[in-house]
Amino acid sequence: MSETCRICGGTPKARHVAREMMYGSRENFAYFECADCGCLQIAEIPADLARHYPADYYSLDGGLPKKPSWKRRLAADWAYSRDGGLLGWACHALKPNREMRLLGELGIARDDAILDVGCGKGARVARLRQFGFRAEGIDPHLDADVSLDGAVIARRATLDAVAGPYRLVMFHHSFEHLPDPHAAMAAARRLVDRDGRVLIRVPTCSSLAWEKYGIDWVQLDAPRHLFLFSRESLRRLAEGHGFRVERIEDDSDGFQFWGSEMYRRDVPMNSPGAHAKKHPLFAAAELDGWERQARELNAAGRGDQFAAILAPV
Ligand SMILES: [Zn+2]
Repeated sequence: MSETCRICGGTPKARHVAREMMYGSRENFAYFECADCGCLQIAEIPADLARHYPADYYSLDGGLPKKPSWKRRLAADWAYSRDGGLLGWACHALKPNREMRLLGELGIARDDAILDVGCGKGARVARLRQFGFRAEGIDPHLDADVSLDGAVIARRATLDAVAGPYRLVMFHHSFEHLPDPHAAMAAARRLVDRDGRVLIRVPTCSSLAWEKYGIDWVQLDAPRHLFLFSRESLRRLAEGHGFRVERIEDDSDGFQFWGSEMYRRDVPMNSPGAHAKKHPLFAAAELDGWERQARELNAAGRGDQFAAILAPV
């Protein structure tokens, strides 16, 4: 069992035992919190991690997205560059596209190279390509490369097999799954060009949800989530590898509440009929309240996940 923090070398201040609850095996896994940087992490990385990513794991399951409707396209264009006038604005107001807005704000052009690390079946990569971006993805858990319109868009590969350079390297809820965050951060620094950016979206233990639910916090997701970064621990890790944190934007939603309430009631995420917000455990008003509370937490920097933008220094 590891006695030192893998992020900063600090010592544990608290230990916890969390259960596997996505599939409901209820196996126990030990975690500890670092007294120094606050990172919550698994005590021992399971030797058989692949066993916890079965073929129906959500990011590896399902097909690629359909061609976007004109409404979605207009919403995306408006979010990205304010194109499309009033109609574009209206479409965006109905279905905001946070990701396209972020790409616009970061100044990512459509012909800039984008890498999605831990892309699963490549749904996000496909969507970006549908909107005209030059995106590709890698994921070590794929059993075969994924093609779209005759081009390979997602490869079964790890970070060290990629050359770059990229204008944008993205980790959408994949970074917390990587056994060696230092190696991943170093690879991201190597892959991103001088005026590029790294986008890391992760769950965070610097949140009300972790404090309120503890080991029932849905995004602890033992044993797949090896590291639940505190805001401080991610900053230290980034700065240790030649980045500065340019921006942190909380993007949590009601899942932190309804998912954690399920685990607190001993209901696995994938139990029949339990998935999605239609769970009979919760009333519509309760679910609405949690969405509202999530927006308030995001505004206060207390949500249970965030998007960090890192810039090379
Ligand atoms: Zn630490």
